[in-house]
Amino acid sequence: MTEPTKILLDESDIPTHWYNIIPDLPAPPPPVLHPGTLEPVGPGDLAPLFPMDLILQEVSQDSYIEIPEPVRDIYRLWRPTPLYRAHRLERELDTPARIYYKYEGASPAGSHKPNTAVAQAYYNAQAGVRKLTTETGAGQWGSALALACRMFGLECEVWQVAASFDQKPYRGSMMRTWGAAVHSSPSTVTNAGQAILAKDPHSTGSLGIAISEAVEVAATNEDVNYSLGSVLNHVLLHQTVIGQEAAAQLAKVGETPDVIIGCTGGGSNFSGLSYPFLREKLAGNINPTIRAVEPAACPSITKGEYRYDFGDTIGMTPLIKMHTLGHGFVPDPIHAGGLRYHGMSPLVSHIVELGLMEAEAIGQVECFEAALQFARTEGIIPAPEPTHAIAGALREAEECRESGEEKVILIALCGHGHFDMAAYDTFLSGELHDYDYPSEAIAAALAEVPVVA
Ligand SMILES: *Cc1c(COP(=O)(O)O)cnc(C)c1O
Repeated sequence: MTEPTKILLDESDIPTHWYNIIPDLPAPPPPVLHPGTLEPVGPGDLAPLFPMDLILQEVSQDSYIEIPEPVRDIYRLWRPTPLYRAHRLERELDTPARIYYKYEGASPAGSHKPNTAVAQAYYNAQAGVRKLTTETGAGQWGSALALACRMFGLECEVWQVAASFDQKPYRGSMMRTWGAAVHSSPSTVTNAGQAILAKDPHSTGSLGIAISEAVEVAATNEDVNYSLGSVLNHVLLHQTVIGQEAAAQLAKVGETPDVIIGCTGGGSNFSGLSYPFLREKLAGNINPTIRAVEPAACPSITKGEYRYDFGDTIGMTPLIKMHTLGHGFVPDPIHAGGLRYHGMSPLVSHIVELGLMEAEAIGQVECFEAALQFARTEGIIPAPEPTHAIAGALREAEECRESGEEKVILIALCGHGHFDMAAYDTFLSGELHDYDYPSEAIAAALAEVPVVA
């Protein structure tokens, strides 16, 4: 019998619960602090921006949280997502490793982001919220939230960083197709945007500025809330449908992963894939290596410091203990826009500090070389972000070729690259290059991070 290429589950196998790893960890993560008082923030501090159900999930000690049926019903549009065995890639690499990839590009928005967008839109709709605001860099998150808001009858307003608003016009088209309003950020419709434009009328924007605009509108309107696509505990929680399905799919073919690899921007797709396996690792049932791959141009885990810092560039958010390059650090314009975040999810950071997961940084040229090899064997053209996970898997598979080890490698292919073909053109024409490690910019940004005793 030939071994299967595509391992599928039934709709009835969509997980019924999200998995919360926090109660299973050997030590609890440090609290989020109010920047003024340096006291832990309470639910009330977050209430102007988020509905109470999500605030409670953020601090929940329950191992399992039931997925509301209306959310599961929308998940049915694309879940369970396929798990593929990369037979052709393995043959080309001449490796004894067996490579599996969980394909989240199957969602309508083309990435894993709708897994949390749908949940967030649902709880906000339940709370009587009229509109959600958010920021988006590359446009993946904005399109996921636009889709989710449409499904629950919410309005959606997105601030897209001006540089990517101009470079990726079709992400905006996608958001408008689902009914969202999209602004180029900095915009003239908020005080924050006007202040930036007064100083620099040609500002190309930044994620930090776009966050300020979206938060301002949510904080100043009673029936408007704000939504975040990564970093926070509840976002990582919602993504655990990925790993739960992957575990069931691997079990179907009698496999146990030896290495689990994901790309990390804010840590949500990587956490979503790996936490259900980490649960088994903590229980002593399996012992996979779990590895985050980050861009060499924005290496928060491998080169950052583990300390309290702001989540945004301007310094408006609570203080979060995480691996950070400094909130003022602006990474070079690599094509993986979704990985250009100065920090890391506090939960991923904590788990790395506990020694339960590891990280490596890879430059974008190696990532695009890996992506091309992947596209030319497996067919799917990956988004620039998961090219990091693919490059990490290729390093492992090549080691297996040398050593003869038959490792089982599992990766998250968290999105397709159909809106990123300009990046592929740059690579194919030989113009893609790596940036030097920005040690001076990182040192300067770290010098500005508040000191919390
Ligand atoms: C947003 C995004 C990322 C980065 O976010 P994580 O929270 O680290 O997953 C990675 N890949 C894709 C396709 C994205 O849309």
